[in-house]
Amino acid sequence: MKHVAYILLGSNLGDRLNYLSRARDKIHELSGHVIAVSRIYETEPWMMASDLPFLNQALKLKTQLDPHQLLKSLQDIEISLGRIRSEKMTARNIDLDIGLYDDMEINSSELVIPHPRLHVRNFVLAPLSEIAGDVSHPVLSRTISELYKDSSDHGEVSILARS
Ligand code: AMP
Repeated sequence: MKHVAYILLGSNLGDRLNYLSRARDKIHELSGHVIAVSRIYETEPWMMASDLPFLNQALKLKTQLDPHQLLKSLQDIEISLGRIRSEKMTARNIDLDIGLYDDMEINSSELVIPHPRLHVRNFVLAPLSEIAGDVSHPVLSRTISELYKDSSDHGEVSILARS
């Protein structure tokens, strides 16, 4: 059986567009079924020990992988793209997170789904609402579009002209 997962991509170091593009290719190889891709947004870093702007994008994919297998695969992709796992909240060339997985709720030490920042950060809500606007957040029971409309986050997001 196939599951639907929404993946959040972010990069604020090096050739950001190239990192997003290579990550998309590798995620496509992984599942073969990337069925929706948001535009790319340039966003302010939030609570980071870095002031470099991020590029963020969201993907919808169909996958046979369970959530933990998917997390492991995404971490392998981060490593293959040269991600150095340093302190949290520092600049990163590529960051791949699971935003939503079906309507599942997971709270384990290594995996939290829905992603804990999903409903409070414009850098996630802007790209995600393009491809998952009508999807209901399984914990909050509100759609992604509603969450974005009512977001109190002041973080600036803008569509990247080249995307
Ligand atoms: P980061 O430094 O932001 O890439 O955080 C990575 C860590 O967050 C990993 O060690 C994961 O185990 C953990 N994590 C928890 N929930 C998620 C999620 N939904 N997607 C990706 N990583 C997650």
